[in-house]
Amino acid sequence: MRTSTFLRLKLREAAFISKALLSSNHVVLAHIIPMRRCNLACGYCNEYDHTSKPVPLEVMKRRIDKLADLGTSVVTISGGEPMMHPQLDEIIRHIRSHGIIAGLISNGYYFTPDRIKRLNEAGLEYLQISIDNVEPDEVSRKSLRVLDKKLRYLAAHADFHININSVIGGGIKSPEDALTVATRAVELGFSTTVGVIHDEDGLLKPLGEKEKQIFHQVKKLGNKDHARLNWFQDSIAEGQPYEWRCRSGSRYLYICEDGLVHWCSQQRGYPGTPLEDYTMEDFHREYKTEKWCAPTCTIQCVHQVGILDNWRDPQMTPTQVRKEQKKKETERVGQVLRPE
Ligand code: SF4
Ligand code: SF4
Repeated sequence: MRTSTFLRLKLREAAFISKALLSSNHVVLAHIIPMRRCNLACGYCNEYDHTSKPVPLEVMKRRIDKLADLGTSVVTISGGEPMMHPQLDEIIRHIRSHGIIAGLISNGYYFTPDRIKRLNEAGLEYLQISIDNVEPDEVSRKSLRVLDKKLRYLAAHADFHININSVIGGGIKSPEDALTVATRAVELGFSTTVGVIHDEDGLLKPLGEKEKQIFHQVKKLGNKDHARLNWFQDSIAEGQPYEWRCRSGSRYLYICEDGLVHWCSQQRGYPGTPLEDYTMEDFHREYKTEKWCAPTCTIQCVHQVGILDNWRDPQMTPTQVRKEQKKKETERVGQVLRPE
């Protein structure tokens, strides 16, 4: 990444963090899915199929326009494998045309020098690749041996920030692989994070002793900013619940391939409202609503967004939120019917 691009990105990050601290009335981060299809079939994953078609570019553009209307600061394109979408570059350009920071999560298989240069030109700013093991096995083929060549291409040609996420838990056989992956990422000049793989419901798998030791070693190798933001993981690694306020459906949105808003990838169906119909009333309801799955949640990006508002606006149970809404509606009707 060129120094000028790096400095510009740091300034843009500082601006979106200040905006988020000053006001809680806009979306901070949205994940959008342009395609559910994936070229791989990781054993722990519930986020892919092998048949779906790409979402048409015009539809993706309308969704991005709506996210811009909601004041979104960062849009990350996820999947499935988003690199399989034939108009990915146009989607990135459209995100940037709104002044929004553009990110991508990929399994890394499709990177070639030419493809990386086209992503530079489209204006991609962040890339995250998760690498699960050193040698491919029946659980995962997101493996360092297969992907090392791609990582070298990225180190040589990418003009965007690259983070390599290694993982622990979820049936990954050799936890020490996470250390090998993180060490290689640092050698190549990338940042690195470590995630605890969730179970099928997106919830915690407790770590064994050896896994815990490696988890802490890998965290030490990583970016200090990420380590500070991810301190919830220390409780999670110990199998302890963690108290925080999940602002999904509000400050964080997950938009599936059908254009519906969900809390996150692991809680699809709530609220399940079409993005085009999503209003600030939905935003405020979800902002205030306590999420039942929060204490053992392992989803890093939603935790990071949550930090921006953890110090303000306590949440309520869904029943309390419904009662409050009903009271407001009754007051509104009362005002309309009041005789002059
Ligand atoms: S590469 Fe990603 S989307 Fe595809 S199966 Fe694996 S974890 Fe799921
Ligand atoms: S706490 Fe929030 S991010 Fe975590 S699983 Fe629940 S809804 Fe998703």
